Amino acid sequence: MTSHEVHISKRLAWIQDELETLKASGLYNTIRTISSAQGAWLEVDGRRVLNFCSNNYLGLANHPRLVAAAREVLARYGVGPAAVRSIAGTLDLHLELERRLAAFKRVEAAVTFQSGFCANLAAIPALVGKEDVIFSDELNHASIIDGCRLSGARIVRYAHCDPNDLEQKIQEAQGTYRRGLVVTDGVFSMDGDVAPLDQIYAISSKYDLMLMVDDAHGEGVLGEGGRGIVDHFGLHGKVDVEVGTFSKAFGVVGGAVAGSSLVVEWLRQRGRPFLFSSAVPAADVAATIAAIDVLEESTELVDRLWENARYFKAEMRRLGFDTGQSVTPITPIMLGEAPLAQQFSRELFSEGVFAMAIGYPTVPKGKARIRVMLSAAHSREDLDRGLEAFARVGKRLGVIAG
Ligand code: PMP
Repeated sequence: MTSHEVHISKRLAWIQDELETLKASGLYNTIRTISSAQGAWLEVDGRRVLNFCSNNYLGLANHPRLVAAAREVLARYGVGPAAVRSIAGTLDLHLELERRLAAFKRVEAAVTFQSGFCANLAAIPALVGKEDVIFSDELNHASIIDGCRLSGARIVRYAHCDPNDLEQKIQEAQGTYRRGLVVTDGVFSMDGDVAPLDQIYAISSKYDLMLMVDDAHGEGVLGEGGRGIVDHFGLHGKVDVEVGTFSKAFGVVGGAVAGSSLVVEWLRQRGRPFLFSSAVPAADVAATIAAIDVLEESTELVDRLWENARYFKAEMRRLGFDTGQSVTPITPIMLGEAPLAQQFSRELFSEGVFAMAIGYPTVPKGKARIRVMLSAAHSREDLDRGLEAFARVGKRLGVIAG
């Protein structure tokens, strides 16, 4: 070993220590390798397995119309955007997607970002700063938390989905800030519960606060034909910022903010990921527009997703599993301790079912679970295969009665 290498390994030795700690505490994240297109079945680590992991709610990630739209545009526009939109000009396709998304969501305007994560990092610091306050649900997604931190505003966490606690926290903060923002996930990704957005809106408007919802898991799922949580509660024009992602039900990649023209214009001027990072490539934009076409033409996929979710949940409960507070296709199977959830997930995999164990710190200690992500891509036979595997493993591990 040269002295140079010794020097490097010394200054990075702390990383090795941290990784060992993660491994010892069972928190090391081992990532499986997928070598097939997304769908009800996947090839994972060389095995064909039933897919209960992905956010491909409507099966659009490998839909022939989306793939064809991307291919066609690829031939015309090539692969990369080559620059940041605000500096070197925006593609007509991005503007078309923004118009189509606003129309689909029945709001005035929309602006797209590279991801849902970027949309949160763009929106929150553009709306609030050091003199301001954010009221944030305690279980909000990491990208909301990071957006809040980046803004420099004071962050006040309120109890999960609890409008009374929100109001109390707002009252306690009265007179201590310039502007205020209430922010919540629409559908919470680990529990599948839905924020009481109508009540949250009533409170935020009573105190004249801006309101933002991250509808990553509600788009394509809630509302008429999958128009999302704002549509579900009939709050068009009332929620100031509706963050979305194209990486889940829409089956592609990218993020967006939909809302008033005023907010959208402001984000084009002040949303830092919009201003300083290159946009999503044209082929993905075209595929996303095709996803909106599919959703606008028929509610078939959304209906099938809900049918699958209702069937699977009812059958899991009948088998004796605890499916938590979920009212959406996100279905947690509550198991308690993390080692049990991990063992459950491993045994499911050996039964040919890919479903992730989720433990602390993603969810509270003692609330480890398997999270089943249902999709319109699953057939009834797929769901029955999954249910049989859950039943076998559940009995073997003593989670349900044998
Ligand atoms: N918000 C929520 C609630 C999410 O679950 C996710 C994805 N896990 C994101 C934002 C980020 O979306 P994207 O993958 O498009 O960055």
